Amino acid sequence: MLRLPSRVVLDDEPLDRPWIRGSRRGGDPGPVLQVRRVDDATFVLRQSPRATWEAPFLYLLLGTRRALLLDTGNVADVDRMPLQPTVAALVDDWVQAQGLSDYELVVAHSHGHGDHIAADVQFAGRDHVTVVGVDELSVRDFFGIDPWPAGVVPFALGGRELLVAGIPGHDARSIVIADPSRGLLLTGDTAYPGRLYVQDLPALQESLDRMVALADTAGTGTILGGHIEFGAHGAEHPVGTRFHPDERPLPLTVSDLRRLRQLAYDATGRRGVVRGEPMHLWIGACRIPLLRLGVAAVVRRLRGTG
Ligand SMILES: [Zn+2]
Repeated sequence: MLRLPSRVVLDDEPLDRPWIRGSRRGGDPGPVLQVRRVDDATFVLRQSPRATWEAPFLYLLLGTRRALLLDTGNVADVDRMPLQPTVAALVDDWVQAQGLSDYELVVAHSHGHGDHIAADVQFAGRDHVTVVGVDELSVRDFFGIDPWPAGVVPFALGGRELLVAGIPGHDARSIVIADPSRGLLLTGDTAYPGRLYVQDLPALQESLDRMVALADTAGTGTILGGHIEFGAHGAEHPVGTRFHPDERPLPLTVSDLRRLRQLAYDATGRRGVVRGEPMHLWIGACRIPLLRLGVAAVVRRLRGTG
């Protein structure tokens, strides 16, 4: 029987339904981690905005030979965020139900930024667990992406074959994972409903070309990224806010991805915030817009609304 740690909740809601949204200051903190079961071998995990304002999404995909955990989120401390015990419980439940043995867990990352790798320490040094390094060379070597970044390579979980490619632009180490068996494309912080920070615009443009092509050829029409930063009515959640009272749905479509690609090409030669729907590009340092969002977050906190 599946037993998850306390302060972790499980549901079977569709992916476009609302997620845990954190709470106002002084309000009920609620669960720290939400597990959404897409099917018995596919889970989306969301860290609560109350536990970490980044509130990242993590993905656990299970095959008959091994599992892939994509990202470990923004909280290292297992007492504050029991990620490893949660993943272990989900994997054990699957392994027992399927009667599997010699099972492995691979922990990899959509990219190398701190809000996606913090709990690697919870998995390091454990038996039957491989934690892939976050530097570009470790990523390309582990998956065998050759040529980097454009090579699309298979990654077999056992009865479930994923496809992996490099997608620099937000981060030089970013990868995309296609799961044709479930029609999913996992895009990390390169595509999600929110502020997409751009480190290298020409690289991003090329990556988006390849992501659109991959979504088409792999038949992966449900695009799932690393965060939600926009409300249902277009409002932005300020940087640092712990309460997302209404959020846009997580999944994007291939049409959204095409719009994002167009936005990236239209932004050629520009710096600063370039607005699109349902995402904005933040190109370069963007100090003034960031400062504005930071002030908005402080005001919300002082008012007790975020
Ligand atoms: Zn992120």
